[in-house]
Amino acid sequence: MAGMNRLYRCFPLALGASLLLGAAEPKPLAFAPWINGTAANEPETQVQAIDADTFVIRQSVKTNFEAPFLYLLFGRDRALLLDTGAGGLKIRPTVDRLVADWRARHGGRAIRLVVAHSHGHGDHHAGDDEFRDRPDTDVVGLTPSEVAAFFRFADWPQGVARFDLGGRVLDLLATPGHQPAHIMVYDGRTRLLFSGDMLYPGRLYVPLNHFDDFRSSAERLAAFAGTHPIRALLGAHIEMTTAPGKDYPMEAPVHADEHGLALAPSAIEELRAAVVKAGPVPAIDRHADFIVYPVPARPND
Ligand SMILES: [Zn+2]
Ligand SMILES: [Zn+2]
Repeated sequence: MAGMNRLYRCFPLALGASLLLGAAEPKPLAFAPWINGTAANEPETQVQAIDADTFVIRQSVKTNFEAPFLYLLFGRDRALLLDTGAGGLKIRPTVDRLVADWRARHGGRAIRLVVAHSHGHGDHHAGDDEFRDRPDTDVVGLTPSEVAAFFRFADWPQGVARFDLGGRVLDLLATPGHQPAHIMVYDGRTRLLFSGDMLYPGRLYVPLNHFDDFRSSAERLAAFAGTHPIRALLGAHIEMTTAPGKDYPMEAPVHADEHGLALAPSAIEELRAAVVKAGPVPAIDRHADFIVYPVPARPND
């Protein structure tokens, strides 16, 4: 798969950065094939563990064509669920099972669940209501001001907010553009960047009235990447095939020959350069692993 090859090629660079910091190099990401709609019967969700505290949940394309990826990260005291899916299923049972399994492995330790979002589009928060009456749970709001207040951004969208799960501090970047409340989450422990809908193997929709915000976010992201070792980007969808530059049709019900989930960190500079180069009327800009996809203005979102 083209995406994975690119990912592996980046590891000598990542290794160099980690040696400078004196940290052990984590193992390369290696996911089993994801559910992609090609099997007659696939489960509504598929979970893959990156490590004992880091889980990826994929929602079946058969439940919703968006087939998003959700992320669940555990620290000593809190777990962060990033997104609640696109609807068309009950998502909480999968999350509750992962939390129960984690607690069982930690002597029944209490853990608070924070339900947050990559951004405010409906395919990322459709399951929120399932968590509102869940004990020991905070559901973060969807507006930029609610996100900024919860995570204590001092000067949204500038700067980086730090959120400690307990022995696991996450760095949050405000990255409006695709949508005003968009954030990315960097986990220094795994050196993974959870990149939402701003940068993933697919169509990166940018409303034209927010293109300047998107460009500024891409520049802040590139600056962050210059000072933090990044192993890979994990986004919220896959819309590219294994053929470079080729995406699925809109709302495709099956994703045969899907691009890998992870993007190499070099995608950050590739995106920054692309949006800086885009003129006053940005056009669709096809790259091997993603497509910058301007769409008509969305005044209220
Ligand atoms: Zn979105
Ligand atoms: Zn989305």
